[in-house]
Amino acid sequence: SSFKVSSFEDIPIETPIEDIPIKVERVRNGFKSHKTQNLEFRKGQLRNIYYAILDNLDLLYASIQLDLNKSQLETDLTEIAFIFKEITYFIENLDKLAKPESIGVEVIMKPATGHIYKNPYGTVLVISPWNYPIVLAVSPVIAAIAAGNSVVLKCSELCPNTSRLVIKILNTALDSEIFTGVTGAIPQSTVLLKEKFDKILYTGNSTVGRIVSRAAAEHLTPVLLELGGKSPVIITKNADLKLAARRVLWGKQVNAGQTCVAPDYILVDAAIKPKFIAELKKVYEEYFPDNDKETWTSYSRIINERHFDRVTGILKKSEGTVIVGGISDPHSKLITPTFIDKIKPSDALMEDELFGPLIGIITVTSTQEAIDFICNEHDTPLAIYIFSNNFKEQEEIIAKTRSGGVGINDPLMHVALLNAPFGGVGESGTGGGYHGKFGFDAFSHSRTVFSQSSLVERLLTIRYPPYLPWKQDT
Ligand code: NAD
Repeated sequence: SSFKVSSFEDIPIETPIEDIPIKVERVRNGFKSHKTQNLEFRKGQLRNIYYAILDNLDLLYASIQLDLNKSQLETDLTEIAFIFKEITYFIENLDKLAKPESIGVEVIMKPATGHIYKNPYGTVLVISPWNYPIVLAVSPVIAAIAAGNSVVLKCSELCPNTSRLVIKILNTALDSEIFTGVTGAIPQSTVLLKEKFDKILYTGNSTVGRIVSRAAAEHLTPVLLELGGKSPVIITKNADLKLAARRVLWGKQVNAGQTCVAPDYILVDAAIKPKFIAELKKVYEEYFPDNDKETWTSYSRIINERHFDRVTGILKKSEGTVIVGGISDPHSKLITPTFIDKIKPSDALMEDELFGPLIGIITVTSTQEAIDFICNEHDTPLAIYIFSNNFKEQEEIIAKTRSGGVGINDPLMHVALLNAPFGGVGESGTGGGYHGKFGFDAFSHSRTVFSQSSLVERLLTIRYPPYLPWKQDT
């Protein structure tokens, strides 16, 4: 079919620095040509992305396997499905989303009308990370184009195969005046960030998030930062423990724990902890039978040596007790999902976001203690997961804590909601989130348009100077 690419060899691993300003200028002019104002044009571009992804699925599976050993099923579930869902949503709802919203005006302003127009910001920059290298690059591009922007996408250097392929696919699908891709690392990002954009969406760690924010401030460019954090799991006395074990282990092993919303540590009530651990050991055997090589063929690998050494280094430093997992192999960068019990708040596991398949277990004696812990340590994570079947308890935890989002009795899945904002708060991100309608809004300026009739001039005379005393009395 027409979007099938044969290779991505022509996309350089690093975009030559001198090309960057030219690329940015091209899409800036593309926006200024007003072609993105046309909703049918936008829908056509979105449709092209849909078919270009569909036509190149095999290459995408192959490249993400090279970069992360991510399996086809996991790639479908955690990357591809959301893209198809979101494009379909935008094509079906674009007319409604883009339509100026009429707002009522107060009686004394009548017959004026008020509207909120959703105007594209202009030319936007998307900087994407390596851990979900397809969806975290493509989904922001979809939202930006749906809203009528032109886009520069900078993909991560840590997954060079998928990054180049994604850019190749988008180049094939999209009008070259409204989309351009940049590969490479800090030199490329630094040059890009000197350019003036109208909005920046950055996904990655908070150190670079601060760099992006500072650079954006120079141009007063609004930013949407999608960061990470230590997302806790609370398992209370009112939890279904078998279900908690099954789901927490699932959520932790997805992409070998290299997920921004991965469960990072567990706060479990002492009264039910032994039973939870017994259930965990059972389900571990079920998910990873025999624990042999074959078991791990479809399990993601750590992205590179530096991260492998970082994660195994934390495990070495930890003073806790490994209860399941603990196997690692530097050659294949395999680290099995590893649960570590008897963790003190000062443990190495509790310093930074783990971003790997380790998870520490901290024992608490009440739900209140778990709440206090979260409020005092690593406040404002990207997610909080509550395992409890008591509604009042769930509500109490939500009310007394802060986080980007919440999962009740299930990790990760809140991210897959189409029309709910996916984003952080405080340390885990800023700017309100995106996805579906919220992605559209993230890339639109809500522009107030007031229109007064020219026939009511006499009614308006009160407001014109000179402000003589008789006017005060009317
Ligand atoms: P990364 O190393 O791929 O970096 C992200 C991007 O920043 C890349 O494009 C990279 O080239 C660029 N970059 C790196 N250094 C830079 C610099 N000095 N100046 C400008 N740009 C620079 O990815 P990462 O940061 O390792 O990603 C992991 C982090 O991202 C974790 O903290 C994770 O929780 C977070 N994350 C958040 C979300 C979310 O949606 N909230 C999703 C995925 C990952």
